[in-house]
Amino acid sequence: MTNSPIILWFRRDLRLTDHEALSAAVRTGRPIIPVFIRDPLLDELGAAAKLRMGLGIEHFGAELAKQGSKLILRSGDALTVLRKLIGETGAGAVYWSRLYDPANKTRDIQIKAALKDNGVEVQSFTGQLLFEPWTVETKTGGFYKVFTPMWKTVRDRALPMTLPAPGTMPTPADWPRSENLNDWKMAAPMQRGAEILTQYCVVGELAARDRLDEFLEDKIDSYVKNRDIPGVDGTSGLSENLTYGEISPRQCWHAGWQALHNGKSGAETFLRELVWREFAYHLAHHTPHLLTGNWKSEWDSFPWNKEENHKVEAWKQGRTGVPFVDAAMRELYVTGVMHNRGRMIVASYLTKHLLTDWKIGLNWFADCLIDWDPCSNAMGWQWAAGSGPDAAPYFRVFNPVSQLDKFDPKRSYADRWIAEGKKQPTETARSYFDMVPKHWGLSVSDDYPAPIVDIKDGRERALHAYKTR
Ligand code: FAD
Repeated sequence: MTNSPIILWFRRDLRLTDHEALSAAVRTGRPIIPVFIRDPLLDELGAAAKLRMGLGIEHFGAELAKQGSKLILRSGDALTVLRKLIGETGAGAVYWSRLYDPANKTRDIQIKAALKDNGVEVQSFTGQLLFEPWTVETKTGGFYKVFTPMWKTVRDRALPMTLPAPGTMPTPADWPRSENLNDWKMAAPMQRGAEILTQYCVVGELAARDRLDEFLEDKIDSYVKNRDIPGVDGTSGLSENLTYGEISPRQCWHAGWQALHNGKSGAETFLRELVWREFAYHLAHHTPHLLTGNWKSEWDSFPWNKEENHKVEAWKQGRTGVPFVDAAMRELYVTGVMHNRGRMIVASYLTKHLLTDWKIGLNWFADCLIDWDPCSNAMGWQWAAGSGPDAAPYFRVFNPVSQLDKFDPKRSYADRWIAEGKKQPTETARSYFDMVPKHWGLSVSDDYPAPIVDIKDGRERALHAYKTR
C-alpha cells in the first residue's frame, strides 16, 4: 500500500461538495495536494472570463485554507508542471474531473497517456456534466442532432446522489512552493472595466448554492413566464457558477427534481434548460467542429458581409441605434452576462441584419462573458446563425423592434442600459461609459444613434443572401 500523495488537479471544478475526484482521493487516506495550473489554455481565456476565473481561484484557495489545506498555483505547460510537482513531492497519482470541450480533452488525453507511461496512476472523474456524452445515444446507436429526442431519452435517468464535502483533507508533510495569484494578473485584460465587472460576479460554492436556493424559493414558480423577460431577474443566474464548477450540474438536477415533486411549476423547464447545456457538450463530443466551423458544411459558401466593419464595431459598442440590441450588448459589457433573449436577439441581428460571420460574434462573447462556455456559446451562435444543428430555419429572423415591444413593453430593460437622451439615466446605464475603452470615444452625453441598418431592409438582404448562396 502506498502512502504517496495524490495531486488533485483543479480546473473548472472549484468546489468541495459533490466532487467525485476529491471524494475518491480522500477515501484513499493519502495526502492530497490540490493544484491549479495556469497553462496556455487558461491564458487564452477572454478578458472577462479570465478575471472571473481569477476570482474563483482566489475564493477556492481560501476555502481550502479553511480546511487546513492549500491550493498550489503553478504556471506552464500542464504536463511539465505536473511532472515537476511529482518529482518534488513524490506524488504517485494525479486525479482530476473530466472536461469535455475539444481543447481540454485533447490536452488531458495526452497528459494521461504520458503520465501513465511514467508509471504514475492517473484517474479522471465525472462532475462537469450530468451524463457522460458517450452514454447518451439514439436507438440506432448514433448521437442526437436535435434537442427534444435527447431530452426525452435522458429526462428520467437515475443519477447518483450528490456527495458531501469531505470533513477533513489529509495534507502532505511538506507543501510544495506555490506561485502568487496576484502575479498572474488575471484582471489585467479587463483594464478599467475590472472594478465594475467584479461587482457583478457571484463567486464561490456557497454563493452558488444560495443562488440555487433563492431560485427555487422565489423564482421557479414564475420561471416559465419570466425567463423570457429581460427586465425581470427571473432565471437562476447559475451559468456563471456552473462554468467554474462552483456548483455541480447534479446538485442543480436533484434540486430541480425535488422542486418538480413538490409541484413547483417551472421545475420541468429548469431541468430542460440544464439538458440544453448537456446537448451542447454532446454535440461538441461527437462533432468537435461545432466550435470552430459551420456545423452544416453547406454554410461554408455563405456570402458573409466583410465590408462593413464599422457596423460590427457599432454592434460591439452597443451603438446600433436598435435599443434591444444596444441594451443587451451593454449589459454584456458591464455585467459579463446577457439575458438569454438578449443573446438570441443580438446574435440574430449580427448574423442576419448585419450579415456578419457568426464566429465574430462568438469571439466577442468569449471575450466579454463571465459565464463563457465553449460549447454552449458555439451552439448558441450556430443556432442563431442557422448553420448549426437544431437550428431555427434561416428565414426566422428576429425583429429586434417587435421583440422589444413584446418582451420589454415598459422599457425597463432598455432604460436600465441606455443612457443617451435620458434626463436622468440609471446608474447602470452610466456605468457603461466608465468601463468601455477610452479610445471608443463614447460619452454619456452623446446623442443616441440612428439605426445603422433599416430593420426591414436588413431582413430582406439576409433572406436574399440565403436564397442565392
Ligand atoms: P437559467 O434559465 O436559469 O437556466 C439554467 C441553466 O441551464 C443555465 O445556467 C445553463 O447552464 C443552462 N442553459 C439554459 N439555457 C441554455 C442554452 N440555451 N444553452 C445551453 N445551456 C443553457 N450559456 C452559457 O452558459 N455560456 C455561454 O457562453 C453561452 N453563450 C450563448 C451564446 C448565445 C448566442 C446564446 C443564444 C446562448 C448562449 N448561452 C450560453 C445559453 C444561455 O443564454 C445561458 O445559459 C443563460 O442565459 C444563462 O442564464 P441562467 O443561468 O440564468 O439560465
